[in-house]
Amino acid sequence: MHSNLAIRTEGLSKTYNGTTALKSLDLKVHEHSIFGFLGPNGAGKTTTIKLLLGLIKPTAGGGTVFGHDITGDSVEIRRKVGYLAQVPSYYMHMTARETLRFKTRFYYSGPRNRIEERVQETLEMVELADKADRPIKGFSGGERQRLGIAQAQVHHPDLLILDEPAANLDPMGRRDVLKIMERLRKHATVFYSTHILDDVQRVSDTVAILNHGELVAQASIEELLTGSGGTVYSITFKGSHEEAQSRISAHEWVSGVTVVPGDLRTTLHVAVTDEDAAEDELMRLAVCDGKATVTEFGRKRYELEDVFVEIVEGSNNGE
Ligand code: ADP
Repeated sequence: MHSNLAIRTEGLSKTYNGTTALKSLDLKVHEHSIFGFLGPNGAGKTTTIKLLLGLIKPTAGGGTVFGHDITGDSVEIRRKVGYLAQVPSYYMHMTARETLRFKTRFYYSGPRNRIEERVQETLEMVELADKADRPIKGFSGGERQRLGIAQAQVHHPDLLILDEPAANLDPMGRRDVLKIMERLRKHATVFYSTHILDDVQRVSDTVAILNHGELVAQASIEELLTGSGGTVYSITFKGSHEEAQSRISAHEWVSGVTVVPGDLRTTLHVAVTDEDAAEDELMRLAVCDGKATVTEFGRKRYELEDVFVEIVEGSNNGE
């Protein structure tokens, strides 16, 4: 029915003894996307994931995963889905290879004589082949998360659901986990929750933002980042910038100029309504009188953090 949707929910809601964890969630996750499910702690992300996997039942509403009903077909769903819990648990004395072998025997439906090969392939994919025969108790946080992702995908699921895969990791550990997530998207849809904005900006193509159990935004990263105020160019001057500023402000394609003063340099943020005009003229307008030197010129990248704070604060004010 929803052939191109990996996940769809309609009015999905969950209340735990009077606490509303999730309010009428409508979510659409397209196949082969890498979907960041973003929200502060307590927003309802884990609750949503548990509902999708059929681990808990909705109070109202419902949803489908590859067209299978989340309340009735959870066995079917779990065959197609790989899941990494927020804090994966391991038998610490076992090695990474033994752990994966165990999991593969259990879940892998391919030929039995392929199991060792499959385990080796998976270890390589998550870059743990050189540590495969060491006990997990000596693994770093990042290595444990990578092993968790390996475990979640031994049976080649069409959808991977990862609950905070990069939380609590150091920058190197996070970078490695994000790299593996990007690698996996070639084979599967990746749906992951996070409260770390930077991660979302680096690897997702679509984002949903949840706050207090409510969906406050769902869009592509591009839409989120450009939707909030148009394109902005940033020009840094050494010397006097005032004349350049008034020349620039006089054009109708300039919708606003913000001055960011500095010790020796001043930066102007120029919001424009017509990118072509800006690209043709802005640099020339900045330098044409010879009074100021332009030391940096570029398009200001909107940071997801600005957008996130704006959206979440906006939705808090509406309460
Ligand atoms: P997130 O994963 O975004 O941090 P959760 O889905 O874990 O958020 O929690 C959403 C809300 O539901 C929180 O207020 C949390 O305290 C509450 N909650 C979660 N699980 C339970 C539970 N088993 N019983 C009662 N309240 C719960």
